[in-house]
Amino acid sequence: MDGTSISRRRFIEFGRDAAAVTIVAAAAASPGFAQAGGGKPVARGRPMPDGVSLPSTPPRPKRPDSVGYAIVGLGDYALKQMMPRFARSARSHIAALVSGNPEKLRRVGDAYGVPADARYSYDQYDRIAADRRIDAVYIVLPSGLHADYAVRAFAAGKHVLCEKPMALNSADCERMIAAGRRANRRLMIAYRVHFEPHNIEAMALMRRRAAGTIRFVRTEQLSRTDPSSTPAENWRIDRSLAGGGPLEDYGIYGLQAALYLSGEMPESITAATFRPANDPRFTQVFASVASQLRFPSGAIAQLMTSYDSSGSNIAHVRGDTGALIMDPATGYEGHKMRLEGRERRSFSLGDPTAQFAGQLDNLSDAIRDGSTIRTPGEMGLRDVRLMEAIYAAAEAGRAVQLSPDGRMRR
Ligand code: NAD
Repeated sequence: MDGTSISRRRFIEFGRDAAAVTIVAAAAASPGFAQAGGGKPVARGRPMPDGVSLPSTPPRPKRPDSVGYAIVGLGDYALKQMMPRFARSARSHIAALVSGNPEKLRRVGDAYGVPADARYSYDQYDRIAADRRIDAVYIVLPSGLHADYAVRAFAAGKHVLCEKPMALNSADCERMIAAGRRANRRLMIAYRVHFEPHNIEAMALMRRRAAGTIRFVRTEQLSRTDPSSTPAENWRIDRSLAGGGPLEDYGIYGLQAALYLSGEMPESITAATFRPANDPRFTQVFASVASQLRFPSGAIAQLMTSYDSSGSNIAHVRGDTGALIMDPATGYEGHKMRLEGRERRSFSLGDPTAQFAGQLDNLSDAIRDGSTIRTPGEMGLRDVRLMEAIYAAAEAGRAVQLSPDGRMRR
């Protein structure tokens, strides 16, 4: 998820225009375009999100061993961020599309040079098993659908790149990992910042104690959801598709940053959630979640995330001799980072948008060469467990103690 409030304008006004209504009606009438997993209608999105630019010439794979991906879900993030970045990857190409919208399948398929017989509806999804052009699926659906689509991809013999959050509960994450193992296929969670130059350097700086011994980490991932949104039209505030809301969607970046900057797993968590009364946006999800993580070293992280605040995307680390300031910290581009204290400097570390292709090629290399995945399913499971602990601590109104693998101690 992007870091700034402006880029989060994709809290989408589903189905407002007449064109959307036409496409939704046409989609519903077409065989094979009725339902996604979870029994929810799939044609909730607009026929084409605003601001999508499709390639004028279809990109081609660059190497004979390039990995073919089926893009599952043609929404905002897939169309605007990830799909255009395949052209910059060394070893990854778009081989197939899966969507609930026939018109979108046609337009996007034509633009990306995806053959007509490699364009699938959700009802046809399991047929990817027989399609040898597809090595892996990239699941970029609403979060509550990730687990089922990943398990079915493994059953079809495909590798999986799954968007964050991995799933909405740890049991589903475990189910995904088990299915991947059974199928002997690889699973990666699309935590793109692990491939972003500023975040990579930040990890290295903190490992070599550039701010001294870490005392505090503070992260804010804040945005404001359109006040006229309702769960019926915006999956991000529908509990069955989004879990608790801002923490799973945006706050997960702050949680991740607290872990990769401190280099530790928390041993205890306290937290508070807030949901205002009489606000149609927050009938199902929380407006805000704040948590405090205590690490074995004594360092403390404070994480704030919200769907009802002016925008912010920061990660600050304060050690005993200095500080690392990242603002914005985890967006698509425009990262700013500086060190204060004993070492004083600002960083300009190359193109942050390299993160998208870097992520793709990490999985493609793992598939072809058996190499390590930087952000495997186990990392996704770890984070979902920690989010469960955050909600449990808020609910109990007291600290929750954790095992080193993020499980709550009973
Ligand atoms: P989106 O709403 O723009 O797209 C979702 C797509 O899923 C749409 O094409 C929609 O038609 C389809 N869909 C299928 N079944 C649906 C259903 N039952 N209800 C609603 N839509 C359904 O959302 P998005 O912003 O593209 O997010 C998709 C995924 O990508 C999410 O898991 C999100 O967390 C993740 N994401 C990741 C980043 C990142 O930086 N890594 C950024 C944005 C989104």
